[in-house]
Amino acid sequence: MKFLKSTLSVLAMGLLLFTLAACKVTSVANEDIMERTEKSPEIVWGVKYDTRLFGMMNVATSEVEGFDIDIAKEITKEILGEDAKATFVEVTSKTRIPLLKNGNIDAIIATMTITDERKKQVDFSDVYFDAGQSLLVKKGSKITRVEDLNGETTVLAVKGSTSAINIREHAPDAKILELENYAEAFTALQSGQGDAMTTDNAILLGMASENPDYTLVGGNFTKEPYGIAIDKGQTDFTQAVNQALTEMHKNGTYDKVYKKWFPDTTDGKVE
Ligand code: GLU
Repeated sequence: MKFLKSTLSVLAMGLLLFTLAACKVTSVANEDIMERTEKSPEIVWGVKYDTRLFGMMNVATSEVEGFDIDIAKEITKEILGEDAKATFVEVTSKTRIPLLKNGNIDAIIATMTITDERKKQVDFSDVYFDAGQSLLVKKGSKITRVEDLNGETTVLAVKGSTSAINIREHAPDAKILELENYAEAFTALQSGQGDAMTTDNAILLGMASENPDYTLVGGNFTKEPYGIAIDKGQTDFTQAVNQALTEMHKNGTYDKVYKKWFPDTTDGKVE
């Protein structure tokens, strides 16, 4: 009887393992993106929803708009054809790499600087935009350059951004308050929780254009080349994205999108 019981439980265990193995599907984080798009022509992009000029939710239309969004739409068309779908999922500086690694999104196009540290986790496309870190202050502020950020001042930055790391190097004495996203950081600046806010010039320009009481000061003190981040192992997809970017530079699509969002610059760079 004892023997029968243990034989039965071994058999039951074997059956369970067999069933689990049969049910095993490739997890989304491991599937090959290019193979999947052959069956269903769609790319899921992680984008900002609160960053004017790059990725901003338009509440009137419920559509997210910006330079990153238009570049993502054009890359999608370039790789998969006119009828392909570009789907957008909100990310913040802090959530973007975890969402990519979990397979929730296929790629990040969200004001993301290419850095050696990030390259340990993700691959990057070629550079598609050149930014640099700067400061935003209320007009008339006594802060006019990064050297003015001393132990008496608080500077606002966003969690998970290069800006939050770089500012510690460039203003080692300043107090730093890190917020969850750019909308919160700007609200904190407006309510006087900080004396300056720091991130890329192009992001700050978007805020200043909407809020004329605020201005950029001190020029750029870092280089922030933006890349599209893709999970490691998706080499065919990364190659396809780079090919699409090259083609868009050749056929004028890139310039058209650039001029739409940055009409005041002529040399292809926001300085
Ligand atoms: N480009 C910088 C970064 O990748 C700042 C902008 C952002 O937080 O997305 O961290």
